[in-house]
Amino acid sequence: MRFIADIMVGKLAKYLRMAGHDVLYINTASDDEIIKIAIDTGRMVLTRDSLMLARKEFKNGTLKNLYIKNEKLKNQLGQIKSDLKISLKPNLVRCVECNQILVRVKKEDIKNKIPPYVFKTQQGFLYCKKCDKYYWKGTHYQNIKNIFLDIGQ
Ligand SMILES: [Zn+2]
Repeated sequence: MRFIADIMVGKLAKYLRMAGHDVLYINTASDDEIIKIAIDTGRMVLTRDSLMLARKEFKNGTLKNLYIKNEKLKNQLGQIKSDLKISLKPNLVRCVECNQILVRVKKEDIKNKIPPYVFKTQQGFLYCKKCDKYYWKGTHYQNIKNIFLDIGQ
């Protein structure tokens, strides 16, 4: 399942990426642009905007959507899990910032690019070519895991 998130659910988009899901999020896109991209790429629209859902593309079934009911992230993730039955377990598959698939990199090759403590304590590293950013299973990863556990696995 692939998604496009509107401007009101940007944080949710990032958390879905942390679970490896393909979520486009363009915070400058208008409703028209979001709808066009969703049609062109076959994505489900995640939105909190009921006006958006009044549009014909949703009413006539051209486009799928999920109306996100709550403004709290935890409740949003809970809704995604119960409505769509998709897995919400953290994994390092996708860049949280840009949705790009990460590539595995050798620890020895990036010694100068990461903090010494991280180099000493971590094993697996991934890289986003688009953002020039490295990922590993550090404290942040553990925090995400706890949030996902909280909404019930
Ligand atoms: Zn990126």
